[in-house]
Amino acid sequence: MTLLRCDLHVHTDYSFDANVTMEQYARRAVELGLDAICFTDHIDINNHRNTFRGFRFDERLNEFLRVKKQFEGRILLLQGYEMGEPHLHPAETAFLRSLQPDLIIGSVHDAAVLDGITDRRSYERAYDRCVRDMVSDGDFDVLGHVDVLRKWHDDYEEDFEYVCGTLAKCAERGIVPEVNTSSMRRVGVPPMPTMEAVARYVSCGGRYVTVNSDAHTLSQLDEFPSVRSQLPHGAELCYFVKGVLHSER
Ligand SMILES: [Zn+2]
Ligand SMILES: [Zn+2]
Repeated sequence: MTLLRCDLHVHTDYSFDANVTMEQYARRAVELGLDAICFTDHIDINNHRNTFRGFRFDERLNEFLRVKKQFEGRILLLQGYEMGEPHLHPAETAFLRSLQPDLIIGSVHDAAVLDGITDRRSYERAYDRCVRDMVSDGDFDVLGHVDVLRKWHDDYEEDFEYVCGTLAKCAERGIVPEVNTSSMRRVGVPPMPTMEAVARYVSCGGRYVTVNSDAHTLSQLDEFPSVRSQLPHGAELCYFVKGVLHSER
């Protein structure tokens, strides 16, 4: 079976921390021979920023439709959001859902519940709990970088069993965990989650995953494509159209 070549976690110039246009990404994705990419711009509501307020939803959608038409027949272009802590912001998340995006990624970034925790280990465990709460209560399709602290902290110490428990919860709720490769930009650091954790997800009844770059620059698009072929037996690649999971071309 041909592995689906999709990158479903891509930040455009509608994210506060990226400045690549949809058209630039689409052109690059066609060059790379990808089947699909999904633009997932940040919606964060926390003590550090609020990108929901003032977000140019209409303008972004019009730009997306323009570029989608331009690349029709060459690549499947999708659009959605990476929502920070959707379980803590149900009204805003419901609004995003009402816009009928192709998918919503749920991620924990700078959650207010984590503010002020300075001890590194305490922070890591509080982060893990926040992700678990999000997976238990949030309305989203794809779990973003379950253990992103692997990328942020040199001395990260994972609670492997807890992460596996969160992935088992994903399997139970039908949420698809992504394998986020952005941590691999640091040599020797595995993706988020590790393949060992993905294998546990599969053993708990999980089936679908996506392998995503979390690109913020053009060169980061689908940066580590070989990760798809390293997925454990039983893990299947998928993508979403208007919130509906598809697993074949
Ligand atoms: Zn993120
Ligand atoms: Zn992201």
